[in-house]
Amino acid sequence: MNNYRNYINGEWLESVSNETVVNINPANIKDIIGTVKLSTREEARGAVEAAYNAFRDWKNTPAPTRGRIVMKAARLLEDNKEELAQILTREEGKTIGESRGELQRSINVAEFCAGEARRLNGETIQSELPANFAYTIKEPHGVVALITPWNFPVAIPIWKIAPALVAGNTIVFKPAESTPATAVRIVELFEEAGLPQGVLNMILGAGAEVGDEIANHPAVKAISFTGSTATGLKLYAQVAGRGVKVQCEMGGKNPVVVMEDCDMDLAVESTAQGAFGSTGQRCTATSRAVVVDKIADEFVRKIVERAQKMRIGDGAVSNTEMGPIVDEKQFRNVLKYIDIGREDGAEMLCGGKRASGDGLENGYFVEPTVFDRVTPDMRIAQEEIFGPILSVLRVKDFDEAMIAANDSQYGLTSSIFTTDPNLIFRFVGEIETGMTHINSPTTGGEAHIPFGGVKMTGIGAREQGSTALDFYTELKVVYVDYTGRKREGNLY
Ligand code: NAD
Repeated sequence: MNNYRNYINGEWLESVSNETVVNINPANIKDIIGTVKLSTREEARGAVEAAYNAFRDWKNTPAPTRGRIVMKAARLLEDNKEELAQILTREEGKTIGESRGELQRSINVAEFCAGEARRLNGETIQSELPANFAYTIKEPHGVVALITPWNFPVAIPIWKIAPALVAGNTIVFKPAESTPATAVRIVELFEEAGLPQGVLNMILGAGAEVGDEIANHPAVKAISFTGSTATGLKLYAQVAGRGVKVQCEMGGKNPVVVMEDCDMDLAVESTAQGAFGSTGQRCTATSRAVVVDKIADEFVRKIVERAQKMRIGDGAVSNTEMGPIVDEKQFRNVLKYIDIGREDGAEMLCGGKRASGDGLENGYFVEPTVFDRVTPDMRIAQEEIFGPILSVLRVKDFDEAMIAANDSQYGLTSSIFTTDPNLIFRFVGEIETGMTHINSPTTGGEAHIPFGGVKMTGIGAREQGSTALDFYTELKVVYVDYTGRKREGNLY
């Protein structure tokens, strides 16, 4: 059994705390993977101080040298891909195929960011004045706090750590309580890649304690947070008074719109992948299907058939299609929302309870669940559930579909199934989400393409792709006057 330690100033240190939580395999709660000490606020301050002390030298390390270390980490992630995928499945529950996919995404992101280290360019700007010009430099902020959730415990830390390092920031990384094993392994690989001490620090513990401590520490100049909207908005409000830079990627309630001229089998399979893949525990999961009346009966019949065929089980078994819910709290929350859907009057067509059967006795398994005739006022149409639950909303036509699809406080991703190019482009223009897909699931993304949401899903610059470094850099503008004379005329 592992006892996970903090990584502060280049050393692996055991917390002095007496409070611990266990890291368990959600597919089999008898499989205890390790224990996590919930670190103290003082230890969190130590991590910030280490990052603060390391900043000057790291900032002055040439960007291509920083990038080379990130590239080395990418190679190490590749060399250790299978081992990390196994750890990820064991502690988070997703299927081994999904874990391998997450690892590949992480490698791609690290490679992309490493390349960006040779393109950390500013611009030169012509002046209105003779013998004058201006230019811009991209500079790091200083210490950045990276706070991450459990559902993509490798990819999300990597897509924050890699650009933060390339930009020249030093880091305090606070992973989710329930996924410490992957977090420790990631930091070990960056250590092996040759990061100087203090540049990357990791503090394990409770969000409300060590997360709160690092976010509110005056030496922390920027915070990149991924997690729930409730936590993200609270954090944003708390730190606003310090004027720090904040990037929050938060909850989702992603719709697919299914039109009568769609390829029905494609729409059904893609909706099932989006709704039940990763057990619905993706920020980009499909949680609402907005379907026009004419084809709603057929769509509902087929999606229910598909849901009932999902092979539920331990993600480590190769033919499993859907693993467990991550932990007991989330498991209870998902079951609670099934009750809420029933009480609010939605028609539950399949699922609706803990999954049972051989090998499922000791895990947090829930049956894929489809609710039909959901109306926009119902809580299951509005609130993020984060489980394998799909709400079907029936609508008259495209215009009604757009009203229903946009009737959400969230705006991460979306999708439309239609063969009509006019509807596709109207949809792209009208849908209120940061990302959208045409005739494919709401999920997925590529390392070199920006990622993020609008409305109460996203605050700040987009992560990944051409925008990956925007959040982690400040722009300095330099005016150069080589006349050698006192300025005359233009004095503003
Ligand atoms: P969460 O908000 O409970 O926790 C996220 C992180 O914040 C954890 O590390 C937690 O310890 C920390 N935290 C909690 N309270 C804190 C506080 N007061 N101060 C500082 N840190 C604190 O979220 P979760 O349950 O771990 O993750 C699931 C959520 O993440 C879902 O809402 C999902 O949609 C969202 N998510 C969003 C994206 C995206 O890109 N939009 C990606 C993945 C997950």
